[in-house]
Amino acid sequence: MISTFRRLLNLSRNSAFGDDRGQGGMSINPRIVMGLLIVVGSLVYNWIGTTKFHNDFTGRDQKLALATPQEEIAMGLQSTPQMIQESGGLSSDAKGRALVERVGARLISSTAAKETSYQFKFHLLAYTETVNAFALPGGQIFITEALFRRLKSEDQLAGVLGHEMGHVVARHSNEQMANSKLWGGIAQGLGVMTSDGHSNTGAYIANMVAQWKVMKFSRDDESEADALGVRFMMQAGYNPEALIGVMEILAQVSGGANGSEFMSSHPNPANRMEHIREAIARERAAAR
Ligand SMILES: [Zn+2]
Repeated sequence: MISTFRRLLNLSRNSAFGDDRGQGGMSINPRIVMGLLIVVGSLVYNWIGTTKFHNDFTGRDQKLALATPQEEIAMGLQSTPQMIQESGGLSSDAKGRALVERVGARLISSTAAKETSYQFKFHLLAYTETVNAFALPGGQIFITEALFRRLKSEDQLAGVLGHEMGHVVARHSNEQMANSKLWGGIAQGLGVMTSDGHSNTGAYIANMVAQWKVMKFSRDDESEADALGVRFMMQAGYNPEALIGVMEILAQVSGGANGSEFMSSHPNPANRMEHIREAIARERAAAR
């Protein structure tokens, strides 16, 4: 990094005093120009290439890669068959599938999620290996049998599905696409600028920073989805504290080799439980 700054300084001096510096004066490193162009391009994309959207569910102004919910729905529907196939198909437990659909329908009909244009659909996957649940953009929501069988109540199931609905209405995937384009581009640009053919330390550091940024966004997304899940549970008449029970189940299995969406972005389940308790208190105060 330091060598980059030094080179950048040389660059500006070269352009100011280029003629006085003799034959080496105009030797602008093409890597620096290329890297700068990539960084600037990423910033320009983030500024004018994204769609600005004020999301009432999150209360935040968001920058999105896809402009409309319809594009999100199309993207989600396109990946759904592959997702189901890779997870061993839909569960053969007809009663379980019906319960997942019924709890999902209750969460939608009693919350503001029903006023959105998202096409919610709740799938119970046959997968018994990995404890997991996830949502595709646009409303396709999945829970594996491995997680479903560990749940102790309908309220806990509502907690899992409500959390995933939170990801959908918060448009997290869409926002992450824009974010990773920005930070991936910055990292790539810095990498090009700092690589000198011998050492890639600069590129390595830039990548670490970009990954840390994306990870940080992903942790914030989980907290936001938990808080929205709590709100949806309460509006649908479920006990929001059941989501804390779900965290306990996830903490128990997190020692295993199979990571899940819930855990990879959340190394500390205790923190997450604390945030859920705060969200419950907030929602109860707002409901009064
Ligand atoms: Zn999540």
